[in-house]
Amino acid sequence: MLYIVATPIGNLEDITMRAIRTLKEVNLIAAEDTRTSGILLKKYEIATPMISFHAHSDDRKVVELIEKMKAGQNVALISDAGTPGISDPGFKLVRAAREAGVAVIPIPGPSAFLTALSGSGLPINRFLYLGFLPMKKGRQTMLKSLQEEGRTIVFYESPHRLLKTLGEFSEYFPERKLVLARELTKIFEEFLSGTPAELYEHFQKKSPKGEFVIIMAGKDFQQED
Ligand code: SAM
Repeated sequence: MLYIVATPIGNLEDITMRAIRTLKEVNLIAAEDTRTSGILLKKYEIATPMISFHAHSDDRKVVELIEKMKAGQNVALISDAGTPGISDPGFKLVRAAREAGVAVIPIPGPSAFLTALSGSGLPINRFLYLGFLPMKKGRQTMLKSLQEEGRTIVFYESPHRLLKTLGEFSEYFPERKLVLARELTKIFEEFLSGTPAELYEHFQKKSPKGEFVIIMAGKDFQQED
């Protein structure tokens, strides 16, 4: 069996009892970064062996894991933070497991975009999750296409690219309300809101640090909605 196990996005207490039990009971944990996950495993006294499975793992690694599961071993997939497969490695392994007839059992838990949306104060009955924007090819086309998007949109962004992105947003979406969720579940968690230009100015004075989720109101959003 393949268990897809969500792990904390910062605060190590954000893990379910089922996730801990599963990580203790499986034969092997496939982790994006064994050193990062080692901290979590140590806290919960999980002694299960780990192997690395990351974005650059080749197809041989997928085949090797599938063979182990077909031979009766149970494997848990975890990423550095949050839900595996959400802007993280995992999709190829889940697809291969399903194709090979290996049972796939997702164990739900945190994800940064859902945590950010739930605290944003923007409408979230319907939303569009886009993960990281493309770095180059297709980026401008995507931004242009979003000018007509009526739903709340949620992105991931690295601190190094935040200013560039806010600069572009101020050109493409000058009037839209943005909410930035920073360092969710951690000591310096904060939510900042404003227009792209206002947030650009803020981070020009104080350089962006930590992890960010960007949430943008849809085109027709009114504060009083
Ligand atoms: N699989 C993860 C999930 O379910 O949320 C996402 C992994 S993705 C590689 C990492 C990005 O998620 C970061 O660059 C940041 O945009 C966002 N992120 C992860 N943890 C966060 C946190 N504690 N606060 C804000 N954003 C976070």
